[in-house]
Amino acid sequence: LFVLRRPLAGGGWVATFEDVTERRRVEERMTHLAHHDTLTNLPNRSMFREKLDQALGEAKAKPLAILSLDLDRFKAVNDTFGHPAGDWLLKCVAKRLQHAVRGSKDVVARFGGDEFAIIQSGIKSAADAEKLAKRIVEIVGRPYRDKGREMHVGVSLGIALYPGDGHDADTLLTNADMALYRGKSEGRNVYRFFEPGMDALMRERRALEADLEAALSKREFELDFQPILNIGSGEIVGAEALMRWRSPSRGLVSPENFIAAAEETGLIVQLGDWALRKACSVAAHWPPEMRMAVNVSAAQIKSGGFARSVISALAFSGLPASRLELEITETVMMDESNAVLRTLSQLRGLGVRIALDDFGTGYSSLGYLRRFPVDKIKIDRSFIRDLDRRDTAAIVRTVIGLGAELGITVTAEGVETEAQLDMLRKTGCGEAQGYLIGVPTKAADLSRLLHSQALLRQSG
Ligand code: C2E
Ligand code: MG
Ligand code: MG
Repeated sequence: LFVLRRPLAGGGWVATFEDVTERRRVEERMTHLAHHDTLTNLPNRSMFREKLDQALGEAKAKPLAILSLDLDRFKAVNDTFGHPAGDWLLKCVAKRLQHAVRGSKDVVARFGGDEFAIIQSGIKSAADAEKLAKRIVEIVGRPYRDKGREMHVGVSLGIALYPGDGHDADTLLTNADMALYRGKSEGRNVYRFFEPGMDALMRERRALEADLEAALSKREFELDFQPILNIGSGEIVGAEALMRWRSPSRGLVSPENFIAAAEETGLIVQLGDWALRKACSVAAHWPPEMRMAVNVSAAQIKSGGFARSVISALAFSGLPASRLELEITETVMMDESNAVLRTLSQLRGLGVRIALDDFGTGYSSLGYLRRFPVDKIKIDRSFIRDLDRRDTAAIVRTVIGLGAELGITVTAEGVETEAQLDMLRKTGCGEAQGYLIGVPTKAADLSRLLHSQALLRQSG
């Protein structure tokens, strides 16, 4: 116990008592705080680094694995259930991760947000790390139940091995992150081992993202339009807007090669908004009753303000809502949040039509049809390509029958041959789109086609 005595100006003394054991406790607490994440009480990044440096610094450092983790769809939980629920879920994930690792020397850390990292020590081979990664994907993916609510997240992992993938903490962590990044870009709920060459791919991707970011203000994007045929009447009933990127350095880039990157950086929100406005203003000059279909990414709908941006595009162009069709994929519906459902219902209430794109390529498609009312199903072109196979033909017939039953228009994508169109006509498929009917073309060309069709109809 310390006692400090200080004389006062007006006479007398002030005595300060200080308890050393208390101070020591405070100091220990401070050190703990500096090294741990306050929410989950797991080691934080700096502590993780320390432990990793320690393990690597040992005279005969043993092989180990660094696992870099990132939760999938955590943002949706936060958005839907609120931050307290998100915090609770992070604590549960922390506990599950600690259960998943077995060695007492293993370290589970939280780096912040929904990022975690693990040092798995004493591994004999890559197979041990793979086993742990699999276990983690399974354990973290189980539902989280709290106050009658059920939440779901997934996890993606990147793995770097010592000594194979690097000798120091920095290299190992970067390489694990690189593998994680690759895994994330290929799909969720996966683990990936680091491979040499990933860094080159990563640099390429970064360059693409930077170019993309600048391309919007430089007006490098264009829309092409592909006609859609009503099989019964033999008339074109509308078109789908398809984005193109005319890059001075890269040439004409197909959406398959830039949409994913635009989604990753969030640029898709602005880019999609641009496409929506542009498409609506083009369609406003088409003959009445011609519909315009616009592709919409999940990120746009989740960004908030999507309904407003659709309404604004309609108002600005003067296009009636009933002539706009939004094409969404099943990934939009996989989001369990009600916000997405609410936005889509709101738009549908205005008369905007919702089409389910690439039908058949996702999971449990039929279940989604019950939760999300849609106006149209677009059968993915992979099914139309294999239409001469008996099993594929049976699936296509079933989907067409289902559409008829539910009062949903069915459009076949990727129709390239007369034989395919014949088969679709016989099965009662409503609409067709594909190179046979027309390739994606410039707005002016399609507009000419639509107007001459309208003239023909009037004179006939
Ligand atoms: P999607 O919405 O399924 O569009 C149809 C794709 O199939 C287009 O590819 C089109 O050119 C292609 N296609 C049409 N007919 C045929 C055919 O007979 N045979 C074959 N083999 N292919 C055909 P594209 O233009 O490369 O677009 C690819 C995907 O990129 C689109 O698939 C869509 O998911 C996405 N996309 C395009 N524009 C946009 C956009 O403005 N926003 C968003 N979020 N995604 C877009
Ligand atoms: Mg589409
Ligand atoms: Mg499609």
